[in-house]
Amino acid sequence: MTDQTTSTTGEEPLRVVLLAIDGSKHCQRAFDYYVKQLRRHNDVLLLVHAIEPPSVPGSLSVSNSGDAFLRKHAEMLEEQIAEARRMESRWKDSCRELGMNHFSFLLVSGEPGEAICRAAEEHSADMVVMGSRGLGLLRRTFIGSVSDYVLHHAYRPVMICPPTKREATE
Ligand code: ATP
Ligand code: MG
Repeated sequence: MTDQTTSTTGEEPLRVVLLAIDGSKHCQRAFDYYVKQLRRHNDVLLLVHAIEPPSVPGSLSVSNSGDAFLRKHAEMLEEQIAEARRMESRWKDSCRELGMNHFSFLLVSGEPGEAICRAAEEHSADMVVMGSRGLGLLRRTFIGSVSDYVLHHAYRPVMICPPTKREATE
């Protein structure tokens, strides 16, 4: 019978760990937790950021101002992509500084929860790591809508890293 926890060479099996990033301190905390508590030297870390189709201000509807709507849409999308590229470069620097060898950045589009679950399947992630909150300003729920969606829809183990009690009440 094959040993599921170690390979024949004694090396731990290669794992794909998906880290969902949105540029918030919460996903930074999730990353720190992964580095400190979960990381294995041969892990492949997949940094995934989802871009949602921009919502153009209501005053510019497709029907009454087609060109202006499209221009605004393209402009907003470009800014989102530029921000994602800045994020990519920051995160890759952090990975390099920590001596990680296998990491890559994946920019996906769509509703973030769905896009993260899709990426987890497509890349056969062994685990999804994410924060419990993100950039959203509304605090109506215990965890954010993206982490809630992934927790309930992913076919993969999900590790959600909450703030400490002190951080949560600050
Ligand atoms: P909401 O977005 O519902 O207002 P929130 O912003 O506080 O709430 P979430 O968006 O659920 O909370 O964020 C929780 C975690 O989900 C983040 O810490 C991050 O790990 C991940 N996440 C959120 N948005 C994205 C995204 N666009 N791409 C990748 N990961 C994301
Ligand atoms: Mg959010």
